[in-house]
Amino acid sequence: METIVILGAGHAGCQAAFALRENGFRGRVTLVNGEEAAPYQRPPLSKGYMKSGRRDEILLRAETAFADHDIHLVSGVAEEIDRDRQQVRLGTGDALPYDHLILAVGTVNRRVSVPAGDTGVHYLKSLRDADILRGRLPQTRRVAVIGAGFIGLEFAALTAAQGKTVEVVDIGTRVMARATSEEVSDFFRHRHQDAGVRFHLGQGVAEIFRHLGNRATLLTTAGGEIEADLVVAGIGVMPNTELAARAGLAVDNGIVVDTYLSTTDPAISAIGDCAQFPSPHAAAPIRLESVQNANDHAKCVARRLTGDRRPYAAVPWFWSDQGSDKLQIAGLPGEADRQVLRGDPERNRFSVFRFRNGQLASVESVNQPAEHMVARRLIGSRSETLADQASDAAVAAKELLLHLQPGNAHASV
Ligand SMILES: Cc1cc2nc3c(=O)[nH]c(=O)nc-3n(C[C@H](O)[C@H](O)[C@H](O)COP(=O)(O)OP(=O)(O)OC[C@H]3O[C@@H](n4cnc5c(N)ncnc54)[C@H](O)[C@@H]3O)c2cc1C
Repeated sequence: METIVILGAGHAGCQAAFALRENGFRGRVTLVNGEEAAPYQRPPLSKGYMKSGRRDEILLRAETAFADHDIHLVSGVAEEIDRDRQQVRLGTGDALPYDHLILAVGTVNRRVSVPAGDTGVHYLKSLRDADILRGRLPQTRRVAVIGAGFIGLEFAALTAAQGKTVEVVDIGTRVMARATSEEVSDFFRHRHQDAGVRFHLGQGVAEIFRHLGNRATLLTTAGGEIEADLVVAGIGVMPNTELAARAGLAVDNGIVVDTYLSTTDPAISAIGDCAQFPSPHAAAPIRLESVQNANDHAKCVARRLTGDRRPYAAVPWFWSDQGSDKLQIAGLPGEADRQVLRGDPERNRFSVFRFRNGQLASVESVNQPAEHMVARRLIGSRSETLADQASDAAVAAKELLLHLQPGNAHASV
C-alpha cells in the first residue's frame, strides 16, 4: 500500500495519521482538514478555551509536527469519493488518489426546529463557534441554553460562574438523561442549581421571538418564557454520512463498519464519531461521540493497515467537566438490572456501578478519578463476579481488581 488518504483532521483523523507513522508506515499520508484552523481539540471549547481563548493550548499537535512526520496536511472539503478510480475530489477541484481511504468526518449539529427558524441560536461545535460565543459573552447578561446534555451543562456552568443569569430548557425530565443514572443526573442538577442555574425540564422550545439587538424570548411548550440575550443549543449531533452514502457505502446511524472498522468497501475504513460499529460491550452496533473512541478507533485501523489485524474491543470511556465537578463514565450507559452506589453524593465524591446480565456494564464516577481508572479495567475484564464485592463499601475499588480471574485484569483495546 502506497497512499493513505484521511478525510477529517479532528481527533480521529489526526490520531490515525500519526499512528500510521508510529507503526512504521512509509507510504504517503494525506490528511484533509475541512476547517480553517490547524487541527485542534474539541473538548476545551466548552471548558477551558471558553475562558482563556488560548489557541496554543488546544492544538492537537504542534503545527510543525505534521511536516516532521511527513504527513501532508491539505486544506479542503471532500465532495466526492470515486470508488472505481479510488480517488477523492475536493471542493478545490483537486483529486486525491488513494490505496486506502479513512473516513473521519465526525458529526453535524442537530438544529433547533421552531416555526420562525433558528436564526440567532448559537451552536458549539467548532473553534469558530467558540470564538463567536467568547466574543459575545462580555455583553451577555442572560443566557438561555437549549439542551441539558454535556455541552449545554458545561456552557451553563461556565456562564453561571461568570455571574450571568442562566436558564436551561430540556425536553427530558432530568439532565443528561440519555447518558447517566438518576443519581448522577440529580447530583449535577442540584450542583448547577446551587450555582444559580434555573432549569425548565420536561418541556421543549415552542418558539423563539427575536427582538432588537441580541435579545430573544423563548416560549417553552409548557407556556413558560425565558428572556435571553444569548441563546445556545446543544441538542445532539448527527453522523456525517452523506459523502459515504453518495459513494454507495452502507450507512445507518453512522457509516457502517465491521469489527475491524472496515466499511462495506475493503479499501475504505471509517472511524470516530461518524462510524457505527459492533462492540463486545454492546448487544447491537453502536456509534459513540468521545475522544477515547476517536483515538482508539484510529489506532485500531492504523494497526490493521500496518499488518496487525485485530478486532476493535476497547472499553468506552468519557468525561465531562461541569463547574468544579468532574464526571467520568466507563462502559456504556443504558438499562441496568442492578446498581451499586459507592461513596457519598453529599460529599461530592461517589460512583454508580451498573450491572447488566450479571456483568459490570458501566461506572459513573463523580470526582473519583482513581475509581474511574479501576472501573475501566474491571469492565475490560468482563468479569461476572463483582456485584457483591462492589456492594461492600468496605472493599476499596482497587481491591475489586483482586477479584478478577488471573490474567483477566487488563482491559482489551
Ligand atoms: C464542545 C464540545 C465538547 C466536547 N467535550 C467532550 C469531552 O469532554 N469528552 C469527550 O470524550 N468528548 C467530548 N466531545 C466530543 C469529541 O470532541 C468528539 O467525540 C471527537 O471530536 C470526535 O472526533 P472525530 O475525529 O470523530 O470528529 P471531529 O473531531 O468532529 O472531526 C471531524 C472533522 O472532519 C471534518 N470534515 C467533515 N466532513 C468533511 C469533508 N467532507 N472533508 C474534509 N473534512 C471533513 C470536520 O470539519 C471536522 O474537522 C466534545 C465535543 C464538543 C463539540
